[in-house]
Amino acid sequence: LVSRKWRVRPTVLDLGDGVRIGEGTLTLAAGPCSIESEAQMESIMQHLVENDVRIMRGGVFKPRSSPYSFRGLGMDGLKLFHQLARQHGIKIVTEVMQVSQVEEMHDYVDVFQVGARNTQNFNLLDALGGVDKPVMIKRGISGSIEELLSSAEYVFSGGNEKLILCERGIRTFETASRNTLDLNAVPILKEKTHLPVIVDPSHGIGIRDYVADMALAGVMAGADGIIYEAHEKPEQAASDGAQTLNFAESARLIRNLRRVYALR
Ligand code: PEP
Ligand code: MN
Repeated sequence: LVSRKWRVRPTVLDLGDGVRIGEGTLTLAAGPCSIESEAQMESIMQHLVENDVRIMRGGVFKPRSSPYSFRGLGMDGLKLFHQLARQHGIKIVTEVMQVSQVEEMHDYVDVFQVGARNTQNFNLLDALGGVDKPVMIKRGISGSIEELLSSAEYVFSGGNEKLILCERGIRTFETASRNTLDLNAVPILKEKTHLPVIVDPSHGIGIRDYVADMALAGVMAGADGIIYEAHEKPEQAASDGAQTLNFAESARLIRNLRRVYALR
């Protein structure tokens, strides 16, 4: 069902208020790795509004390698995130980690994110097949393109056709970067599926100084959008500060992304 053989026309998602994801628009989503506080959200939302970015990312349930790391503000954080986002005309993409969260999160999110560690959580995918909200599925940490498409097929066949695929880097033998951003996946996915394809250069390379160039490369490779991490003070971020852009870097990237997209 997610194949181009089944549907030739590219899928375009409408989040409302003029926010679209898919062919014909460059989708930009930015924000912190983790939602931390009201002040943090206010500052980033102001930055997004100034730069006409309509979607904010930010996790309230964080999958952390160590149980001692910051694991997110949970539902209280999400409710505040939702309230502030609505005030600023911003849409929310945030990670759902387990089936039991789908229902409680439902009214407070615009796009459910399935994280790389949950790409093959088939119970979660089944549950998301039954909701009427878009789902962005990240490629698994060691997941193939085919496996990503199969995960999408779970949600689609469950009845939810509002899907976005996200290339966020895979684990390879290379240790010089956090992950290996597989830009090959972009044209391959675009050919194989009618679904929108988004690139996450932040997790893809994991090194702040290189994030912007990889984002631009993602757009040139044919991506329908970019999702990246930004924070007023990346050095103080509760998670992933080393790959997070500050507002000056983020504003410059947004300008360049729009230029590059116009060249395509
Ligand atoms: C994130 O978006 O902050 C995140 C945890 O991403 P991933 O699942 O790709 O590691
Ligand atoms: Mn992160």
